[in-house]
Amino acid sequence: MFERILYIAHDHLNRSRGVLREANPATDAVVLVESERMTTGRNWHKERLFFLISSARHFAADLESQGFTVRYIKAPTTIDGILAARKEFGELPIHCAEPSSFKQLAQLREFGAEFIANDFFLTSRPLFDQWASSQKTYVMENFYRAQRARLGILMVDGKPVDGRWNFDADNRLPPPKNYEWPPYLEHTRDKIDEQVAAQLGFEPTKSWATTRAGALKQLENFIEHHLDGFGPYEDAVAADNWALHHSLLSPYLNNGLLHAGEVVEAVIGAYERKGLALQSVEAFIRQVIGWREYINGMYWFLGEDYRNLNGLGATRKLLPVFTDSSKTKMNCVGSVVADIEARAWTHHIPRLMILSNLALTTGTNPQEFLDWMREQFIDASDWVMVPNVIGMAVHADGGKLMTKPYASGGAYLSRMTQHCKGCFYDPKKRVGDDACPFTTLYWDFLDRHKDEFVKNHRMSQQVNGLKRLSDLPELRLRAKEVLAGLDAGTI
Ligand SMILES: Cc1cc2nc3c(=O)[nH]c(=O)nc-3n(C[C@H](O)[C@H](O)[C@H](O)COP(=O)(O)OP(=O)(O)OC[C@H]3O[C@@H](n4cnc5c(N)ncnc54)[C@H](O)[C@@H]3O)c2cc1C
Ligand code: SF4
Repeated sequence: MFERILYIAHDHLNRSRGVLREANPATDAVVLVESERMTTGRNWHKERLFFLISSARHFAADLESQGFTVRYIKAPTTIDGILAARKEFGELPIHCAEPSSFKQLAQLREFGAEFIANDFFLTSRPLFDQWASSQKTYVMENFYRAQRARLGILMVDGKPVDGRWNFDADNRLPPPKNYEWPPYLEHTRDKIDEQVAAQLGFEPTKSWATTRAGALKQLENFIEHHLDGFGPYEDAVAADNWALHHSLLSPYLNNGLLHAGEVVEAVIGAYERKGLALQSVEAFIRQVIGWREYINGMYWFLGEDYRNLNGLGATRKLLPVFTDSSKTKMNCVGSVVADIEARAWTHHIPRLMILSNLALTTGTNPQEFLDWMREQFIDASDWVMVPNVIGMAVHADGGKLMTKPYASGGAYLSRMTQHCKGCFYDPKKRVGDDACPFTTLYWDFLDRHKDEFVKNHRMSQQVNGLKRLSDLPELRLRAKEVLAGLDAGTI
């Protein structure tokens, strides 16, 4: 009979990782739990719920077809689900991979689960801890170079291929005009998908796969049609295409259907076989072995209380536009929120330079913004949202992660996006009824925080720019109107 119960979290769906790596169908019973907290506890985006639940159900069915005894249990909480499995299988020890959030780690530890090391990343938690503990500041670039050397990726004789670590300077092109983007890959739906969609009362898009086979198809599609062009347009925001050349792989990397190791291997293999552009391959590799691993490492390194930081004392309530794209005349913000409403995803630059920029410069409470992002994105997990939002997006950590806040006015957005043309507002104006709210708020934000920012050598030049504004009193008044209008959903 069974000797262990293996608990598989909804973000550990991988047969060769975590507790399944050495699982034995003869002696291990497998349990997945769809907890009520996970499905109804918050205002979750239905596309996200559909993706997570349907992926887990497909995964459970796959394991069964491989000879495992699997129970997919619906219960009020994860622990209730595990207790129900114990009722059936007996008082067996519960084994699982180290959970991916502080909360679940504490719950399962208290319950007495036995953990095996989390190997869903390329960098173990102790290894990252070792790196971070040896640093004075936690600069991602330094971590990334150490990763390249440690993993031997894009390296020759201990040096970076072509003698450069970084091609960022070549990769900041604005969106191209009259460009033909490759068609979107659509994923077909099966019986399990239909059941989950019916349970949720929701018609999902075809944007996201819910099986490993589908995730692999997405990887193949990225390598075939997008990888070569990834670098140059990675920061651009187009009006006629929501994906550009981004990989759309984050949901699968985060729920376990894909592992970073196999994604890197496939990308490097294609680079070597097809001679793809190094500036694109390096840019993508940087995201996966650099940013992704760094963010996960920092989540654990910075500790559980990091999520509560609010270094800029931001107290504004979440703006209505975040939950209803019609509550703004700002073309960029309205379009990006509409994209999220449609498919629970938008790429990095809209997340950072549009949504987060708005939250940062309006002084929106970091925890309210974090909760919203966590609920709305298909790829959101605690470990990835907390450092990205608290550290990168709204600078609530006083600069532990990023040396300066990512605030910008309309000039940057009019260069890098196609949204300003046809917008009610004028990106060049900072005062007046048609002034771009981002431009007004950018200066107002610097003005409000000038005493702190002037001490930061990376910000002092921007802050000193305030001295050149002859219309500062007028700008302060306009900023008040903009903030009131955003609160009312009329700007
Ligand atoms: C405020 C904010 C919130 C974010 N929230 C999430 C989130 O909840 N989940 C998530 O996976 N990513 C998050 N990101 C990072 C990044 O925006 C997404 O990983 C990316 O847009 C996913 O699309 P893609 O797979 O097409 O990425 P690509 O552009 O193709 O990049 C490849 C991969 O790199 C990794 N990556 C790149 N940047 C980051 C980063 N900053 N942190 C972690 N991984 C990164 C992702 O795994 C991604 O799939 C956030 C960024 C910001 C600024
Ligand atoms: S003018 Fe300002 S608000 Fe309008 S799209 Fe451009 S940046 Fe956004």
